[in-house]
Amino acid sequence: MVRVRFAPSPTGFLHIGGARTALFNWIYAQAQSGKFILRIEDTDVLRSKQEYVDEILDSLSWLGFKWDETYFQGKRISLYREHAERLLKEGKAYTEKLGDKPGEAIIYKVTPRKIRVDDLIRGRIEFEAETIKDQVLIKSDGTPTYNFACVVDDALMQITHVIRGDDHISNTPKQIMLYEALGLPLPYFAHLPLIMGMEGGRLSKRTGATGIWEYRKMGYLAEALVNYLLLLSWAPGDNREVIGIDEAIRLFDIKNVNKTAATFDPKKLDWMNNQYLKNADPEKLLDELIPQLIEKNYIQGDNFDRNSLKSLVKLFQPRLTTINDFPDWADFFFLKEIDIDPKAREKYLSRDFSREFGALCERLDSLSDFSLGPIEDSFRKMCAEFGIEAKELIHPVRVALTGKTVGPGLFEVIYYLGRERTKERLSKFINREG
Ligand code: GLU
Repeated sequence: MVRVRFAPSPTGFLHIGGARTALFNWIYAQAQSGKFILRIEDTDVLRSKQEYVDEILDSLSWLGFKWDETYFQGKRISLYREHAERLLKEGKAYTEKLGDKPGEAIIYKVTPRKIRVDDLIRGRIEFEAETIKDQVLIKSDGTPTYNFACVVDDALMQITHVIRGDDHISNTPKQIMLYEALGLPLPYFAHLPLIMGMEGGRLSKRTGATGIWEYRKMGYLAEALVNYLLLLSWAPGDNREVIGIDEAIRLFDIKNVNKTAATFDPKKLDWMNNQYLKNADPEKLLDELIPQLIEKNYIQGDNFDRNSLKSLVKLFQPRLTTINDFPDWADFFFLKEIDIDPKAREKYLSRDFSREFGALCERLDSLSDFSLGPIEDSFRKMCAEFGIEAKELIHPVRVALTGKTVGPGLFEVIYYLGRERTKERLSKFINREG
């Protein structure tokens, strides 16, 4: 049975690179009906923090990567020592006092030779082990080194496939030597290509090394982020980009993972998020939005009309890049007094619209059926009577009602704003009060 693992060190938050590694392990386990194991590599006591552990677990859950087993290396220290002592006994390792540190380290004696690995993604790689120095297994403080703990655990946890980032490729020959020294069976290795920022080079905080949690806070959907991470190093074929996770699992083959570095493009992620937001269940979006709307005082926690909010969300859905765009773009529905964007005012409301706005108020007042169709009809009829094109009035009215130049269709805005609020906002521009 396939057993893969994701082995984060809780010395920082889960970021794009880590999430991509977790995803490829998880999806491979799903595709192979295998097990996905989470191993927290917390042997660096000084740098590991509970806060990071919590954030990593929360982020993995939010992304939907359910794991089957959890291990903490910090609880397995005696196991690593046992294995190191075995190598000592067999004469494959020696002890040495390192510098002025108290205690002794256990060090593996490297036998120079060629090491080959058939990487499932990169193909055959050859390493000259002559250049590899003797390896510390257990440090003088009693904690294991990453390479040693990793090998002992991958073997004891019966990991069949080690799927991890390219940055670990130089560790692979060292780990292979340790498997062989311990007489343990080797797993398959698969190294995922590097993720670079838009300007080349490694991802930096500015170019996407943001914590996954931040993406959630910024209003990205987990499904969109997962789809984007998947595309970074794999393609479903047929130029398809938006692909649901179940179908991706069905089509996934580790052989088709890209060998070349991927570029993290925040604009592409935005595009993907919009694709998912368009089709998202408005109820779900509403659940995410309600706390924000309450916090902004746009709605009262115990007193709001869920159905009308849902209609508003639906109205904006096709345009949203992130969930958080909604409170900004839809603010005019919630605010009593709106701010008019000065540029929009300058462009569309610099002349006097008293006559047109006054007439529009009268028309809206006289509508017996204040719904979308009749609103649009009477607006267009009025424009025809004034001898102007509808668009000449649509922009000024939109700016007067919303403060913005872009947004949902004007007739929808009028309909959802309601007759009274529409009239009130227009009347501010009659006789130049506004
Ligand atoms: N703790 C290591 C890391 O976070 C794990 C590397 C591996 O997957 O072997 O990079």
